[in-house]
Amino acid sequence: MLAELHLHLYGCIRPADLLRHLAARKRIRWDFYEEHMRAAYGVVPPVREVVERYRKGDPDAEAEFAGLFVFGDDDAGDFDRFQAKFNLLGAGSALFDKRSGLADIRTEVARFAAGIRADHARNGVRYAETRLLLSRTLAGPRDRAVLDTLLAAYDVPQAGTTERLALSLSRKDPWAAWDRVRELALGPHGATVTGLDFCFFEEGFPPKDKAGFFAAVKEFNAAHPDRALAILYHVGESFRDKSLESAVRWVHEAAELGAHRLGHAIALGIDPDVFGTHTRTEPVAERRDQIAYDLAHAGGLRAAGVTVDEAVLEAERASLPADGTVTIAYDAARLDEVRRRQDYAMSRIRAAGVVVEVCPTSNRRIGGITDPAHHPVHRFLAADLPVVVSSDDPGIFGTTLGDELDWVCRHADGGAELREHLVETAWRSRSEVLTGRHA
Ligand SMILES: [Zn+2]
Repeated sequence: MLAELHLHLYGCIRPADLLRHLAARKRIRWDFYEEHMRAAYGVVPPVREVVERYRKGDPDAEAEFAGLFVFGDDDAGDFDRFQAKFNLLGAGSALFDKRSGLADIRTEVARFAAGIRADHARNGVRYAETRLLLSRTLAGPRDRAVLDTLLAAYDVPQAGTTERLALSLSRKDPWAAWDRVRELALGPHGATVTGLDFCFFEEGFPPKDKAGFFAAVKEFNAAHPDRALAILYHVGESFRDKSLESAVRWVHEAAELGAHRLGHAIALGIDPDVFGTHTRTEPVAERRDQIAYDLAHAGGLRAAGVTVDEAVLEAERASLPADGTVTIAYDAARLDEVRRRQDYAMSRIRAAGVVVEVCPTSNRRIGGITDPAHHPVHRFLAADLPVVVSSDDPGIFGTTLGDELDWVCRHADGGAELREHLVETAWRSRSEVLTGRHA
């Protein structure tokens, strides 16, 4: 019984389904797609021509289109390139085109949802949780058209695959959607809304700012156990703006604040040696938070082999400027200490029972982890963290959950036993189980 727990709706669309959709669509914003491709790749692929040839019945067009659309290993290493290719989904989408009518949006969403359900059935996925980022409030007429359509499509009790939705909220202001979230969770299709997600740019949005919101979700869950919502949180996927220590801390903090599952959490388990000797810069505010963390966790950090000298930290805190940035130099010893910090954070996250979602292909191609030996999954498994494997955007990555599981088992030397363990962990890490909806 395969459970896919980390998916984004439009990222699930297979090339063949997208091509059929584009071929039937009157208005495609080619300029939008082509401009971004030119900026990210320096060239514009002939997608426009291939769609035209498909319209005229060219039998080779479908394979050629798939080759141009899929974000493959050769494309890897750059989020801008991923976004440029992803923009083809937006260019032909009624949902992303402000000029489209609501009927168009409903037709599109219903068709894609049906295609994705069929794809899950083909690939043996019996339960899937998909995230969707709409407007900040989730309350406009377009949001309503999408959500009404999608939830009705998901709310089919006897279907072969159980489809569930996690509403992606604004990192900046999750409260803006809170009334709508509760209305949806308690509404007629509330059984299909099982989680809340935080995705897209994480830089600039420290998990600690979500403490009040997470507390409100927990209160809601206590009051409505049969409609409780899991908190799913993308964190530690991109951390170029901060120290490695802060990146580890963010993941740990998201877990301690009450997230049920963490998306990617690369910072928590990536081998720090990957970064080599280098310097990083972070805002003074992050350094302050890091000092407070070190003081609060001094005992545990020390037990894990991290040097914590309270007097030195207090003196540093007193000498920090009010704002600006601090620069930190990493040598072999400091990288080694980051590894011990990761060990400590992993032990705390394990104790809290928080699940880590691992999406190998996504990490390889967007996260830039090219050497399989550096992938955090090895440390996660060694630390006995509950790990679930998923595919993030299987359509544009041209992957399946089976491929992702194969990759982990092959590179972690796990074989059939590990595969069974991962499949079983995913099944019991479904949102509706973690929140106790199905006690
Ligand atoms: Zn994701």
